[in-house]
Amino acid sequence: MSVKCWSRGKTTAAVFNSAGQPLEYQFFPVPKLAPGEALVQITACTLCGSDLHTYHGHRSIQTPTILGHEIIGKIVAIGPGDPICDFNGRPLQTNMRVTWSITASCGNCFYCSDGLPQKCEHLFKYGHEVLSSTHPLSGGMADYCHLVAGTAVFPLPEKLPDLVACPANCATATVAAAFRVSGGAEWCRGKVLLIQGAGMLGLTACAMAHDYGAREIIVTDIDRKRLEMALRFGATRCVSVFEDEGKINSIVKKLTSERGVDLALELSGASGAMADGLNQLRTGGRYILVGAVSPVAPTPIFEEDIIRRMISIYGVHNYTPPDLAEALRFLKDNYNEFPFSSLVTDKFRLDQVEEAFQHAIRSRALRIAILPQA
Ligand SMILES: [Zn+2]
Ligand SMILES: [Zn+2]
Repeated sequence: MSVKCWSRGKTTAAVFNSAGQPLEYQFFPVPKLAPGEALVQITACTLCGSDLHTYHGHRSIQTPTILGHEIIGKIVAIGPGDPICDFNGRPLQTNMRVTWSITASCGNCFYCSDGLPQKCEHLFKYGHEVLSSTHPLSGGMADYCHLVAGTAVFPLPEKLPDLVACPANCATATVAAAFRVSGGAEWCRGKVLLIQGAGMLGLTACAMAHDYGAREIIVTDIDRKRLEMALRFGATRCVSVFEDEGKINSIVKKLTSERGVDLALELSGASGAMADGLNQLRTGGRYILVGAVSPVAPTPIFEEDIIRRMISIYGVHNYTPPDLAEALRFLKDNYNEFPFSSLVTDKFRLDQVEEAFQHAIRSRALRIAILPQA
């Protein structure tokens, strides 16, 4: 479909109008590139949990839009003017196999100047932009994606398989950001970690914690199959949240001389998870909140407890380009150590996007992929 469309000067996308309505296929002209821009032929896009939340209506987003942001592809055209460089400073070339940061930032505003480019006042976020007449192709449920100036583009490591690389620019990079905020790889060495949630983020966090030399990696989830998978991704202990609360307490006490864990990562987004995580932290412990990107029930916070135990709590949303660089480094070095290639379980063509969403929701698959060139 896409090759024929390209030759006719058209591209195809599955447009999301609102929850409960089928995705609508639309044709768009091949964009005219401005300086600093590039056009990518999408090879694969995996459906992230936030795409499913939006599709379901659990998360509001401006519409119409083209969902999908875990994208990889091949550069097919580059805008005029000065050469565009990748994140490492090398000029982009056609036929390069690439991924790119989920957000593009202006580099000049208050937040860009304050080290938070992911919160730029002029942020462009792939898979989240409302369709515009000048720039409709901003999401992964399409055969082409139009990269704006200021996007941090990364060539993919040569041997990294497509479907292992695909979640890098959301799931893996977000986990890398969470570890960076916690204190980084050096700080994690020898530490005891609690990872809440054994979905895509949680499994990735187990493997990254292992790579960073954590001493113990304790994982909690409601799903026994996912907990079993966590053991294959480096977790040392798994506990179902349905088990007696005494079980997690006794494991944490035993592994930490009764002090509590050094670091907890909340990756489940479940109501009540934050209270559980706070309970398991040691004095001086660090808590990174990542999972709750759609509304959850509020957690009561006991200030005195936070103060006396000197707990640090950080929220992590999106990430910075160096986090994606670290995500790709991590995947390149570890994709054979852990079963990352088993995480994308099903593949669909671009004309099957509706079916793909339904399947992802029904099966609770960790990731399914759309292959627009298939
Ligand atoms: Zn995502
Ligand atoms: Zn900015």
